Amino acid sequence: MQMRLLEYEAKQLLSAHGALVPSGQIVTNPDDVPKLPLPLVVKVQIPTGGRGKAGGVQKVNTDNQFSESVEQLLSEPVLGYQASTLLAEEALQVKRELYIAITVDRTHRKLVLLAHKQGGIDIESSAHDSKMFTVPLDGKPNDEAQQKLFGYFKLPESLRRQLRDICQSLWKTCTSEDALLVEVNPLVVTNDDQLICADAKIELDDAAAFRHDWHFEQTPASTQFVVLDEQGTVGSMANGAGLAMATVDAIQGAGATPANFLDVGGGTNTDGMVAAFKKLSELPNIRAIVVNIFGGITRCNEVADAIVAARKSVSELPPLFIRLTGTNEREGREILQSADVPILPDLKSCVDAAAKEAT
Ligand code: GDP
Ligand code: MN
Repeated sequence: MQMRLLEYEAKQLLSAHGALVPSGQIVTNPDDVPKLPLPLVVKVQIPTGGRGKAGGVQKVNTDNQFSESVEQLLSEPVLGYQASTLLAEEALQVKRELYIAITVDRTHRKLVLLAHKQGGIDIESSAHDSKMFTVPLDGKPNDEAQQKLFGYFKLPESLRRQLRDICQSLWKTCTSEDALLVEVNPLVVTNDDQLICADAKIELDDAAAFRHDWHFEQTPASTQFVVLDEQGTVGSMANGAGLAMATVDAIQGAGATPANFLDVGGGTNTDGMVAAFKKLSELPNIRAIVVNIFGGITRCNEVADAIVAARKSVSELPPLFIRLTGTNEREGREILQSADVPILPDLKSCVDAAAKEAT
């Protein structure tokens, strides 16, 4: 069985493995406004390709066009799917569109790199066609494989390194995530000579799920909230059920009463996290909250944004004791630093400080 990710999820994985993706914003609400400079491309998040032709990829130049696109794509199905999530991205200045993928070659029992000079709409359907340029991979793409691909694409010398980096990112994504397919189509060469993944498709191998802590939109209920003790004084928020349980135990271990169990899942958006903070702040006896996030798919900068937003919008939010590490950690720290929100070095410091605050 394979599990197809939505584009934004695929891009989060690719980006976590070093690939360059456009800056983007997740949109789930018709009232959401652009957070990135216009023009933007609004893309419906459904588990199929061919969205461009079907009107599921819309370029918007104004706030009004943005709202219209968002409203339409959140209320009308595209290719038979009603999306609940959109991805709004910076519009790219496209010079060329290429196709690149790594997939499992079952006959030869190895990974294979596929490429085509003409990426973009429709090329996927010829993915198994002889027209595809293929490079069998025995392990990580080596110099020879990269050389071949670079020669095939006929890219300017200045892009040699970027192409190599993309190959490495694809390979890392494929092998470390147990993917059956990692496809970038189009891989865009921009007018200012950047190689950027404009669209991405990933199929994960379901059979490998036990090796991962996957939280994708298709998997059921990513946010799990359980009140453990109405009188509990220390709340917690973590990502992943295991980490959430460990956090509850650590609070207890520090001598405080844990109020709740909260697993915010992976790839959580700001609205979801702000809602979770609001729920925590409404617990009757809460005096401190421990936030324990290990960024994998979840990006620390997005968590930091959510924390800052929650501090602004949730009234009576108790003091937060935060451990934040992993993907985009540096950016996350910077965001919190400029908002004067301290980060603590480890979970122990968090629970000790929270327990002290609560007594
Ligand atoms: P798909 O049709 O479902 O494969 O969706 P894509 O993300 O590939 O988008 C369809 C097409 O939109 C691409 O092949 C591009 O040719 C075109 N496009 C034009 N401008 C942009 C842009 O700024 N970003 C992206 N992602 N696509 C763009
Ligand atoms: Mn595409």
